[in-house]
Amino acid sequence: MEINCTEKELFIFKKIAHAVEHLGMEAYLIGGFVRDKIVGRDTKDADVVCVGDGIRLAKEVAKRFNPVPPVSIFKTYGTAHVKADEFDLEFVGARKESYKYHSRNPEVAPGTLEDDQLRRDFTINALAISLNKNNYGQLLDPFGGLDDIKHKIIKTPLDPVQTFSDDPLRMMRAIRFATQLNFAIEDTTLQAIKDNAYRISIISQERITEELNKILASSTPSIGFDLLYRAGLLHIIFPQMVDLAGAEYKDGVGHKDNFYHTLQVLDNISKETDDLWLRWAAVLHDIAKPVTKQFEEGHGWTFHGHEVVGGKMVPKIFSKLKLPLNDKMRLVKKMVELHLRPISLSQEEITDSAIRRLLFDAGEDFDALMMLCEADITSKNKQKVKRYLENFELVRKRCEAVEEKDRIRNWQPPITGEMIMEIFSIPPSRPVGVLKNSIKEAILDGEIDNNYDAAYDFMIEKAKQMGLFPKSGVRDAKSQIPDSKS
Ligand code: ATP
Ligand code: MG
Repeated sequence: MEINCTEKELFIFKKIAHAVEHLGMEAYLIGGFVRDKIVGRDTKDADVVCVGDGIRLAKEVAKRFNPVPPVSIFKTYGTAHVKADEFDLEFVGARKESYKYHSRNPEVAPGTLEDDQLRRDFTINALAISLNKNNYGQLLDPFGGLDDIKHKIIKTPLDPVQTFSDDPLRMMRAIRFATQLNFAIEDTTLQAIKDNAYRISIISQERITEELNKILASSTPSIGFDLLYRAGLLHIIFPQMVDLAGAEYKDGVGHKDNFYHTLQVLDNISKETDDLWLRWAAVLHDIAKPVTKQFEEGHGWTFHGHEVVGGKMVPKIFSKLKLPLNDKMRLVKKMVELHLRPISLSQEEITDSAIRRLLFDAGEDFDALMMLCEADITSKNKQKVKRYLENFELVRKRCEAVEEKDRIRNWQPPITGEMIMEIFSIPPSRPVGVLKNSIKEAILDGEIDNNYDAAYDFMIEKAKQMGLFPKSGVRDAKSQIPDSKS
């Protein structure tokens, strides 16, 4: 078996071999590193399993590098980590495992290499390469993992029902590897996932979401979501997405299957960007279609307001999935809320003010939004696709022209909330928001010029109608103007 290691890797493995010999131990490269080398994927870390104390071996290996790298020890797991020449090495002693029904954390006892290979989740993850003098470099493949790599198959070494019941996270991992490697899950293994899907409930949300994110980061994420759906896992971990599936018919009129549409949008955007959050935006862009769906006589199926309702669902879904509730979440929410805007612009006479509004609302995420909109075109009709793309091109051109002229993308209205409070000597309150918004609207509509004086005069008029009057002499709040681009 030819395995292409870099010079650096070979140098490191020789050092490990010396340490192993010095301690009179037995050790092997195992798991993801071996699999990825055979598949031809990039590797940046390697797991080493030894018969005996993994921490002791790690310390002995570290000694052989200059400068000597620190050894991070995880006593509870009996593992140790060494970063040697920028390469991450994880050491563990070979072990046997036994599981209890309510936990994915097994009881462990020291074992042989074979015991350790038996506890691995998939045949392709159980391959080992010897680091021992007598058979250095030899591949040890007790379950036919090499053949499974050749045939692109994910399969468990032991009875799959037991394997998944012991540690239900493995179901997510099976689907994640199938997605990353573009492998098929062998039939009985897939059936065992279906039968054990309900067991996913003993796994923490963080672990589940970590796998979901890895699926999303793959080059064709639809493979994973389709498998999660077919295995019945998606129903448990992300039911809102399952609600997108299927097409309803009435009076012979149907609508598209929004689940498969969403998966196609996801694959489309994944060809354009690696950004995880834009991929999440693709997953969620139509998430409110099921709850906004209506059949209108003579009109067919409608999903009015699904972008607004969908935007509201984003924080809830992020919270449930334990995704971060930060700027990334706000980006996804914004993409969902705005995803119909460029389409509506391409259908009507485009006024400058409509373009300015889109530029303002999308701000620095304008390009990301256009990317999502283009990914959203999934028609099979080539003529239609061509027409849509041309329309978007037109929207882009108009946006470029208006942006060139008005610089709206990073624009802030010339009068801020703080200035309004200062000018009228009022505390934070509703009128501040009303005034601020009316200034913004007036400028975007082209009703007034985009500068402080025009905004000030407009605001004073508007405030008067609200019974508000400025403190005397504060027109000079102007001195507080942040660097406005008027
Ligand atoms: P990647 O690092 O790309 O996620 P990997 O295969 O290296 O892939 P790790 O999670 O780093 O995955 O685990 C290293 C090895 O440990 C795996 O190859 C597998 O042999 C074993 N392993 C990891 N998680 C499990 C599990 N839940 N059940 C059984 N074996 C596992
Ligand atoms: Mg790994």
